[in-house]
Amino acid sequence: MLLSVGLIPENELTRNAGIAIDEVTGGAIIDERMQTSVPGIFACGNVLHVHDVVDYVSMEGDKAGKDAAEYSLGKAKMEGAIRVKVGPGVRYVLPQLLSGEEDVLLSMRVMAPARNVKIALLEGGQAVKTVMKPRVNPAEMIQIKVKKSELSGCKEITVTLQNGK
Ligand SMILES: Cc1cc2nc3c(=O)[nH]c(=O)nc-3n(C[C@H](O)[C@H](O)[C@H](O)COP(=O)(O)OP(=O)(O)OC[C@H]3O[C@@H](n4cnc5c(N)ncnc54)[C@H](O)[C@@H]3O)c2cc1C
Repeated sequence: MLLSVGLIPENELTRNAGIAIDEVTGGAIIDERMQTSVPGIFACGNVLHVHDVVDYVSMEGDKAGKDAAEYSLGKAKMEGAIRVKVGPGVRYVLPQLLSGEEDVLLSMRVMAPARNVKIALLEGGQAVKTVMKPRVNPAEMIQIKVKKSELSGCKEITVTLQNGK
């Protein structure tokens, strides 16, 4: 028997805690420190978005653990000054809120398989960063590192998939 089924994050606890939920991922809306809309509550792994490989889960767990420890030692919750939105071809992007104070790792999935494409981070229609991809697939997580300097002056970033030619 071959099962090809999707997974939905189990978020009973998240909803009960009144945490803001992303309707596409079905998981919490987070900032770059994996912190949810409720200060002191952090999210990572499949409760946040469904992972195809456990490696990413471990990386997120490591980051959330470090940031939660810093929070418990008094590091204040950061203000998410920059909103991250999805544009054509992109299904979702995490984190959804950035401070612009740190380098970040964006995780995303595309809507459909494609070849020779460009992932562009746009601010007011201007590209602040573009990354070429020979091929993309909804089943494979994409991660893009964005430097603090690339976020300078940004208020809202839209992540889009564009023709790579
Ligand atoms: C069928 C299948 C095959 C996979 N194969 C692979 C593979 O070959 N290689 C690979 O790298 N990855 C694979 N994955 C992905 C990998 O298993 C997941 O990405 C990983 O397990 C997610 O880890 P997690 O800790 O975030 O969530 P989970 O492993 O799901 O752990 C969540 C835990 O929270 C508990 N829980 C849930 N709700 C509550 C609650 N309210 N209170 C208390 N506890 C609660 C659950 O019982 C569970 O133990 C596979 C996933 C599936 C479903």
